[in-house]
Amino acid sequence: MRAVVLDRWGGDLSVETVPVPDPGPGEVRVDVRACGVTRTVENAIGGGLADDPGLTPRIPGHEFAGVVEAVGDGVTGVEVGDRVLAYFYLTCGDCDACRRGDTAQCLDFGGWYGVNCEGAYAERAVLPAENALPLPDGASFREGAVAADGVATPIHVCERADVTDDDAVAVLGAAGRIGVHVAQVAALRGATVLAVDVGEERLAHVESVVPGAIGVDASEGDPTDRLAAAAPYGDGPTVVVDTVGKTQPLRAAWESLAMGGRLVTLTTHHDRSLDVPLKEYVVTEASLLGSRYATRDEVVRAARTVADGRVEAVTTGTTDLPGIPEVHRRIREGETHGMTVLDP
Ligand SMILES: [Zn+2]
Repeated sequence: MRAVVLDRWGGDLSVETVPVPDPGPGEVRVDVRACGVTRTVENAIGGGLADDPGLTPRIPGHEFAGVVEAVGDGVTGVEVGDRVLAYFYLTCGDCDACRRGDTAQCLDFGGWYGVNCEGAYAERAVLPAENALPLPDGASFREGAVAADGVATPIHVCERADVTDDDAVAVLGAAGRIGVHVAQVAALRGATVLAVDVGEERLAHVESVVPGAIGVDASEGDPTDRLAAAAPYGDGPTVVVDTVGKTQPLRAAWESLAMGGRLVTLTTHHDRSLDVPLKEYVVTEASLLGSRYATRDEVVRAARTVADGRVEAVTTGTTDLPGIPEVHRRIREGETHGMTVLDP
């Protein structure tokens, strides 16, 4: 079969012919029908998740959906012919966190699909049966690939911040792959959405997907006062979700927060921080929350929200397998917006 192979972390991607993998005990093989080609994978390719040379060469890719075509020994609950989408984390299933359902907090974390094992930039992919989650008939494979991370992560964010219909949620990077779905999930919960991004075109895109979203153009100077004014009660957003990780807008968003506000960060830049004097937390009763991918349950729910149309799975293009290295070059050069999907 054809697959895209990374020679070393931070190295080159090439299209190669490799043997079709057989599922081992507890594993299933999936006929890959759609896979997200995204900045998260680009981060993994660059060694941002793991950089052990022993893990390469490696087939990357984790945000995918397809049809189960073979099952290994001992697999129960997943059958040949099942439509599935993939859970990104390799978790133990036995620790306290896994047992209570907080699988993103697994205490015996085995790493990432497509990093610590072969991924889905391929015609076929093998994964642990417990990582193959049900894709409802109402969802296309493209929608399943988006749900696997692009919608599941926003659901986890909204759970972390306990977003309700009384919230005004400012989304930094609202036109991006994650941001546009955070905006939708927050709106689905009844919150007022303040869409923060750069330029009219990107804001118009968000407003077309999320009716009622209030655009705030971050290219027009410090947005602190405009964010506060755009919130329905004039005292600023109650929740800020940062999908970008740029220090200046983050600081402005922090200062715009309403009393008791929550700032959720989900970027993994190693070298950036938000410098906040401890007194500010006390005086405003503000919270800074980290959000780490999603639980299995949230991925299942993400698939359901796209299947019945509560959330629109937003993508900006498709590619075939040979086109993947070029898509990653464009992601690296900052030439792409939104999400490209592999259609093998
Ligand atoms: Zn665990």
